[in-house]
Amino acid sequence: MKPGTVSSQLKELSKAGIKKVFFSGGEPLLYQKEIISLLKEAKANGLRTSIISNGFWATSSKEAFQTMKELKKSGLNTLKISIGPFHQEFTPIENVKRILKERKKFPEIQIILYLDKTRNEMLFEIANLLSRQKKVPVAFSEVVPFGRAKNLLEKELFYRETMKEKCPYNIPVLSPNQDAFICCFGQLKGRSSSFFIGNASKEPLKEIIKKYQKSKLVKHLQSKGPHALVKELEKRKIKPLKPNKKKKFVFLCHYCIEKLSSYKKGDVTNTVNELI
Ligand code: SF4
Repeated sequence: MKPGTVSSQLKELSKAGIKKVFFSGGEPLLYQKEIISLLKEAKANGLRTSIISNGFWATSSKEAFQTMKELKKSGLNTLKISIGPFHQEFTPIENVKRILKERKKFPEIQIILYLDKTRNEMLFEIANLLSRQKKVPVAFSEVVPFGRAKNLLEKELFYRETMKEKCPYNIPVLSPNQDAFICCFGQLKGRSSSFFIGNASKEPLKEIIKKYQKSKLVKHLQSKGPHALVKELEKRKIKPLKPNKKKKFVFLCHYCIEKLSSYKKGDVTNTVNELI
């Protein structure tokens, strides 16, 4: 998305009462100058900010310090550092260590390590060590078998059998082409899926936010969970477009996107409308 577009959307988001924005990628700090400027704008519009980065920029203590200094000036609230086999293929874990060392000079920025949840013993050990030594929180980032992760062997992922929880955290997301979805996983399945809520180049962001706030699908997923909706579709004998034979899922969102996107959007919408 062009910086000018993001800039005007930050103003719209603030006017619409949104309190926080999160810049993700790819790797947002590949466009450091632009991101820093957008973080400043977000701050000026009263928004709390967070970004996620793999720390590729921390090639020396000096570089780590300089970038952290710029991030501090931008008013960044939270820096999430992603670690895991996919990241450490390209970014040495030393970079992460340097950031954690420099972070003491920037207490204004909260740092959280985001560890890809795969069965990679070495990275678990590193994350635990870093967390203990530097006293940083570690969060787990679920790895869904899409994209490069599709090639991971089943034994490298954590599969679960039961998926009966409620949707824990859907947060609307704007993708680079301005398509908006009810959550970041939704964008994996594109416009034709039930997760799509509009395009910000065709309608004001304010209207898209309203649609999200009024979405019966969101309400249903948050109050009953995707499992209840899938069961309801099955009970009504609504046929999926393509039967999804998968039985094992990594976590709730994997189940949710695989199952719900296999049904026609209209079928999902009509079912939810009758239920709420
Ligand atoms: S994929 Fe489903 S369960 Fe996960 S956040 Fe999105 S709506 Fe909620």
